[in-house]
Amino acid sequence: MYDVIVIGAGPGGYEAAAHAGQMGKKVALVEEKRVGGTCLNVGCIPAKAWLRSSRLYRECGEAKLFGVEISSYRLDMPAVVERKNRIVSTLVRGVEGLLKRSDVEVLSSHARISGRNQVEVGGKVLETANILVATGSRPAKPPIPGIGSEGVLDSGTVFELDEVPSRVAIIGGGYIGLEFATFFSEVGAEVVVLEMLPQVASGCDGEISERLLRVLERAGITFKLSCRVVGVDAGTVRFVSGDGQPGSYTADCVLNATGRVPVVEGLGLEEVGVDFSAKGIRVDLQGKTNVPGIWACGDVTGKHMLAHVATRAGIVAVNAMFGGHDWVRYEAIPAVIYTHPEVASAGRTEEDLKAAGIPYKKASVPMGVAGRFLIENEKGTGFVKVLTGAKHGEILGVHAMGDSASEFIVAAVALIEAGVPVARAGQVVFPHPTVGEALREAILQVK
Ligand code: FAD
Repeated sequence: MYDVIVIGAGPGGYEAAAHAGQMGKKVALVEEKRVGGTCLNVGCIPAKAWLRSSRLYRECGEAKLFGVEISSYRLDMPAVVERKNRIVSTLVRGVEGLLKRSDVEVLSSHARISGRNQVEVGGKVLETANILVATGSRPAKPPIPGIGSEGVLDSGTVFELDEVPSRVAIIGGGYIGLEFATFFSEVGAEVVVLEMLPQVASGCDGEISERLLRVLERAGITFKLSCRVVGVDAGTVRFVSGDGQPGSYTADCVLNATGRVPVVEGLGLEEVGVDFSAKGIRVDLQGKTNVPGIWACGDVTGKHMLAHVATRAGIVAVNAMFGGHDWVRYEAIPAVIYTHPEVASAGRTEEDLKAAGIPYKKASVPMGVAGRFLIENEKGTGFVKVLTGAKHGEILGVHAMGDSASEFIVAAVALIEAGVPVARAGQVVFPHPTVGEALREAILQVK
């Protein structure tokens, strides 16, 4: 009898399993592919590894601005892929080591819930006190004729490319589409992003999404907004523009980046009466489902599909299942888009605050107020915006565009989480020179 069986070894499942193991619990972790899940194998890590290479390649062309002449350089795509594979393998081995040290029994198989306290793994039924479902998500396939055809790549298959396509069509201007658009554009492809909404990176603060769009356009990426893709056929994407005009774009690589959907099928959820829909398994702030002893965390719950949220939710679920008092707080979840420049945010957006009728103050400064930003970026652009409560000065949201934003956003997360008012936050000493000093300047500007 296990204390908990975790299904899925992504950042939600493997961290939760290791945590339970470290608490001395008897734990099994069932994974049908490779441990690490989407994030390590076909998500966060490979995407950022590719983006590091593309950035360096672009920067070689800009090195003269820094007083460095590079007479000859070229992109070696198989080597880019090789480097990415090496990083992924190192991290996967790290996860395997963590699970071993935490006494987690890893079972390589498909898992299916066969009863409230039973999981079927490779034809055997295992008994357990708790089940944690962490089966993650997979690329969405909207009902667009041809989008499921073999020639159309998605975030699961794009990493199989070992040469740079010359023309890339990306369907979807969310964070996944924008990151791949950045990569392909930097390595020299012509890139067109087709987005159904009138803006990119929807869900972000409006000012961020507007300014990011302008910067990416200046970098050479073409955006077709308010554009409905109606079919894909042998590399040709057919669409209807916002003004109703039909159009098409022919590419040698079409990427479906229309979002991700929770993996809820084939798990036996219906049979045991777990409340779920195509949007995910319904859980409370501790990861409890409606069925006692069955828990869920991460992308499969459809909430904030981000690796760090999956991890926190998994740990919370384990703490709660063994009597701890813990829950996920969603007020200050950081989110980053690793475009160049990157954007990072935490807390509420201006649109959110307006919709909720919450009076707020704001201050915004260009990233260039931080000397380090000027040192690091010759062509860089960006800004930091701080939103605070109009009456009490509590920090409600921070939104930043510009490289290194992903590194200093954690300071904003801590300030929001700890409820530090803006006047007190202005007394915090930031190291100099750092790009994060732009956040301090924005905080000081809130009047
Ligand atoms: P997953 O990582 O999806 O893991 C679920 C695991 O469950 C999988 O390994 C799967 O094989 C296994 N599984 C499913 N069903 C079963 C079953 N029945 N039996 C056994 N095993 C099963 N997030 C960020 O925070 N930052 C980023 O920069 C970022 N970049 C991304 C870039 C891309 C291209 C993509 C696609 C995603 C990115 N994400 C990023 C999102 C991130 O990858 C996910 O939020 C995260 O992986 C979710 O973790 P999870 O544990 O819920 O699920």
